[in-house]
Amino acid sequence: MEDTYRHKGLRRKMVDNLRQLGVASEDVLKAMGEIPRHMFIDSVFDSQAYMEKAFSIGNDQTISRPSTVAQQSTLLEVFPGSKVLEVGTGSGYQAYVLEQLGADVYSIERQKFLYLKTKDLLASLRSRVKCFYGDGYQGLAEFAPYDRILVTCGSASWPADLFSQLKVGGIMVLPYGSPKQVMTKIVRKDETNVGVTFHGDCHFVPMLPDRIGENFHVV
Ligand code: SAH
Repeated sequence: MEDTYRHKGLRRKMVDNLRQLGVASEDVLKAMGEIPRHMFIDSVFDSQAYMEKAFSIGNDQTISRPSTVAQQSTLLEVFPGSKVLEVGTGSGYQAYVLEQLGADVYSIERQKFLYLKTKDLLASLRSRVKCFYGDGYQGLAEFAPYDRILVTCGSASWPADLFSQLKVGGIMVLPYGSPKQVMTKIVRKDETNVGVTFHGDCHFVPMLPDRIGENFHVV
């Protein structure tokens, strides 16, 4: 798929808009300014790819809107070489943003159709993101511990298994609560203590424990 002058122009406007919305991390703005977001979205939505809006990516799931990706990426404080676990691969866009920020990304998706589709897409972009099919609520113990954990679906209850895979000194960002979700940042101070800050209401598809829906897709 091509990255045309028109796409580049729309992308610059998206970044200007993110600045106006208060996104302060130059690293995040640079990464999002370089990544062809339209390639992560069904081509019928091509003209809207850079708008401040979420999109259907099939199986009734969505790619987060640009300001949400920017907020989560900023809160996560990724550093070059950091080992990051993402829950909810979805379109792969957020994972790719984290990779551009220098992270070594492990991403889990519970819907097989999305897992397969996005794994191929990321490979075609020569991405180093490692995709896994499974239940992110349980994390990915095989490669733990992680410097950072980013949850991109709503967690109604405390994901204890996931948290246990976070390094001491690590940061976890997750949409937490039900039915209302709040963007929550957890800093693991030591084995037993955490620091918690809240960063506004948010609306993510719920984190679901099993894999219903893997045999059908709504596109
Ligand atoms: N990060 C994505 C946004 C994903 S939307 C992007 O950049 O496009 C949320 C995703 O979380 C959906 O794809 C959904 O299928 C997935 N999901 C929901 N519950 C999950 C679970 N328990 N484990 C892994 N993924 C889950």
